Amino acid sequence: MSTQPLKRYDSPASALLTACLSTYFFLAPIAGWAYSVVSGSKASTDAAVAVLKKGGSAADAMVAAITTQNVWQPFFMGIGGGGLAVVSQNGRVQFFDGREEAPASATPTMFLSEKFEGGKIPYYPERVTGANPVGIPGTVALLGTLHKRFGKLPWKQLTAQAALEAKNGIVVSKHFSNILVDEFERLTQFPYSKLLFSGPDGGPQAVGLSLKNIDLSRTFEQLGAEGWQSFYTGSLGRSWLSAAQRLGVKINQNDLARYAVREAKPLQFNSFGLSYYSAQLPSAGSTVLAGYMRFLEYYYKSHTVPAALSVERFIITLETLRFYQKLRDENLADVGYAKFDPQTWIGSAKEKAFWLEISNAIDTKTKQLKERVLEGRRTPDIFESVSSLVSGLRKETPSGESPKNHTAHLAIIDDRGLAISLTDTIEQHFGSALAVPGFGFLLNNELSDFTADTDHPNSPKAGKRPRSNMSPTLIFDSKKKLLGAVGCAGGTRIPATIAQFLDTYFVHNLSALEASAFPRAYFINASETIVIENSMPNFIELGLKQVGYKVERGEAESVLMTAIRRKAANDFTAVSEPPS
Ligand code: GLU
Repeated sequence: MSTQPLKRYDSPASALLTACLSTYFFLAPIAGWAYSVVSGSKASTDAAVAVLKKGGSAADAMVAAITTQNVWQPFFMGIGGGGLAVVSQNGRVQFFDGREEAPASATPTMFLSEKFEGGKIPYYPERVTGANPVGIPGTVALLGTLHKRFGKLPWKQLTAQAALEAKNGIVVSKHFSNILVDEFERLTQFPYSKLLFSGPDGGPQAVGLSLKNIDLSRTFEQLGAEGWQSFYTGSLGRSWLSAAQRLGVKINQNDLARYAVREAKPLQFNSFGLSYYSAQLPSAGSTVLAGYMRFLEYYYKSHTVPAALSVERFIITLETLRFYQKLRDENLADVGYAKFDPQTWIGSAKEKAFWLEISNAIDTKTKQLKERVLEGRRTPDIFESVSSLVSGLRKETPSGESPKNHTAHLAIIDDRGLAISLTDTIEQHFGSALAVPGFGFLLNNELSDFTADTDHPNSPKAGKRPRSNMSPTLIFDSKKKLLGAVGCAGGTRIPATIAQFLDTYFVHNLSALEASAFPRAYFINASETIVIENSMPNFIELGLKQVGYKVERGEAESVLMTAIRRKAANDFTAVSEPPS
């Protein structure tokens, strides 16, 4: 682990608003201070930096950042949700699973109902709304565990900023307001949720208005004063759970008391001479990410690397994602339920055979491409350079509002070499739409990440954690020097986004800014249709159609957060996609 001082980079949202949607912001190092913080919220980054300045560790800063972000972006993440973290200190890398868990009341048939055609509760809004999909929240236990292991400052200090900001009120951003308008109908089913997010006219809080959440402020004060365990086994836990139960939430005190963060070895894989550590099951996203990066190395041993902005490159991306997403969909689930162990799969004969299949699929498509009209119509004659593309990127959100991702990712690296990559979520925007009366926080709807079928590895069951796409990751060089802390929000797009970033950054050598801003392509779930971001040049769309893809354009829906550097560099560049 390097002990070199790092320059400090932050990613305040205000800088992002005036620049493009993906940028980095550099602040000169302050004598004696060297750290990197990246989050999707200026307030959250500021809260983390303030803690680091006081001598706190990355774990302390993470507690302050997550709780503050809960105040500013309650629709994404927070203490009613769950998260996954990969942490490294002195060369030891660990995985912490604070994913929500199904309570004792959960059953394999919980998403089935004869009332609906096909016998399954329709996904939106029915399956994701109200008490049924609420899992036992894990975020507080995750933060508490990280603090216990790696904290330096008293816990009480770390929730104080969030309590203050909830009391003083936040200004509703355009992003917040857009999402609120979309989800207001779900919220209005529950009087307290409606009250929490309504403006003076009873409609959704408008842009620019101050939104106070006195109940949430009190919750953070109590959490600070009584300690994180109180959320599970103390008076805080008893009282918030009683309030939630009155709304029909089927979690009991035993479920809450039983909840524990799981600690495990991270999923480890190598690619292009770098060593990656990512989330274990119940994350399946990390298997897709590992597969993508490892396959690329294999494939480019026998194939020329195409230009980053070429139809061939997107064929390679899409076919690799197609195969790995199918593998994930059919096989992966929580520990003990998945059909194979992702760590054992890596380096196995099965992986090699799988690569051959992907390679053949790519070769078929690229052959098709060569036989068609596109040969010779690649990057140089259409675009002056990657930077000319990047300067006009993500045109679909010119006002600076965020893409419609769910979830938040944060990466914090402190001056003592502690690095934390952490993704936190309440699943959908506004989670279950149930806010806990008197406590000011929203409950997740994470159990809707289970498959509704009763006979799938990812079927619901008491005590089980739903499969996730979240893929917080740390990257090291061969000398164990930390090169990056990456992660992303965006549901099934999470691993695909991180993979495309790492591909363009490490294989195509784009800068961190260019790589994060580069247009991306996705398979959406099992569908044959691919989605390309609106910023994708037309010639790529045309080429992809030529080789048989059904192509749709769409808004950017994933949000990448990364602190990364090149092997020779000591400084991290923090890149945060859109602001709040
Ligand atoms: N629930 C999602 C997952 O764990 C994260 C939420 C999202 O980004 O859509 O994969």
